[in-house]
Amino acid sequence: MRDVRMKGFGERVDVEKVEDFLADLSRPLCAETVDLLSCAGRVLAQDVDSVVDVPGFARAAMDGYAVRGEDTFGASVYDAIELELLGLSLPGAPFGGSLGPRQAVRIMTGAPVPEGADAVVMAEVCTEKGPRVEIREAVAPQKNVGAKGEDIRDGDRVLAADRRLRAQDAALLASIGCAEVSCVRKPRIRFVITGDELIPAGGRPDAAGAKIVDSNSVMLRALVARDGGSVLPFEILPDERDVIRDAMAAPDADVVLVSGGSSVGQEDHAPGLLAELGSLDFHGVAMRPSSPTGIGHIGERFVFLLPGNPVSCLCAYDFFAGPTVRALGGRSRDWPHRRARLPLRRKISSAIGRTDYVRVEIEDGRVTPLGTSGASILSSTVRASGFVIVPRECEGMAEGEEVLILLYDGDGEF
Ligand code: AMP
Ligand code: MG
Repeated sequence: MRDVRMKGFGERVDVEKVEDFLADLSRPLCAETVDLLSCAGRVLAQDVDSVVDVPGFARAAMDGYAVRGEDTFGASVYDAIELELLGLSLPGAPFGGSLGPRQAVRIMTGAPVPEGADAVVMAEVCTEKGPRVEIREAVAPQKNVGAKGEDIRDGDRVLAADRRLRAQDAALLASIGCAEVSCVRKPRIRFVITGDELIPAGGRPDAAGAKIVDSNSVMLRALVARDGGSVLPFEILPDERDVIRDAMAAPDADVVLVSGGSSVGQEDHAPGLLAELGSLDFHGVAMRPSSPTGIGHIGERFVFLLPGNPVSCLCAYDFFAGPTVRALGGRSRDWPHRRARLPLRRKISSAIGRTDYVRVEIEDGRVTPLGTSGASILSSTVRASGFVIVPRECEGMAEGEEVLILLYDGDGEF
């Protein structure tokens, strides 16, 4: 591979070509067993079929009296009937015996309906009179009774593979007696944060010196969490070839995200190292920002060389690394952002042959591209409501045109 440092990029590859390449290669990781209590948000690796009925017994759906429905036929306020009261059925403490004709058992919601009973009369239309209960309303058989298996039947497919488990899904798994579930393993992400000028996040940028705070790792951590990956411990590395080499070569990750040093400058070691350690499949993408992005792999590991400029870093992650992390974890590659379609207040110009990531503000239902929007201006992404993607073959978008906006807000949990 030729050393491109200080010589510039030759051809830049189209965004779609990189996307297709990554889509072809990224398959969900193997399954792992996950404790039921941590499974919400994870992706199921297998179908789940119930091996039990839920509930496993007929249960009262009301507080009242378990009866045989036919015994109450004809009962009304004007013509009350009386049944013999045998005992009590509580949730978790069922009535032991069975019920014969003209007998009743006091019962609470969720308690097993005793053998011989087929309906529950609600407490409001009943009055206990010593060993008997007066009933002033008729109930048909099955009234106020939840049948065995009314929620889930033995053999039902309750959840299918690939399902991203919601809170209620996890609850349902608990209800059918699962203690653990088989989920797609979370992709492990190694950060290789490079730059002699960086101090760790949490520190103060010194006013006089030449140091800046590593903000990229803070952003990337949140993006990886959004996409279902887990970040391995990392340190900030100097622009030293051997140090960066060791970090990139470490074998324990599914995805390596290198921040900084991805371009063709004198201190940009990552592209050459990637070519040496594995394969630098693409270097230089026809897009703005993020053109000095590199994409490659070392064995099974995906490696993304993300430019150090924060806006480029965000954009390159979201175009290339994000879909890969999601796909490895069994999620959709698609943009996770909420979307809006609104007209443009001002036109957006773009060059044919290049994909643009344009930060926009939404005001009064119209979309304005941000003026100060260089790749180093992190605050532009903070001011922005979202971004518009101008495709490669498009020269721009006219004032008044309706455009699709991908919103930074509400794009998944952290
Ligand atoms: P580089 O991609 O290494 O050429 O860096 C491009 C610009 O991004 C430079 O101004 C760097 O100081 C800045 N930069 C590099 N890494 C980070 C980082 N982790 N956080 C914030 N800014 C960075
Ligand atoms: Mg650098």
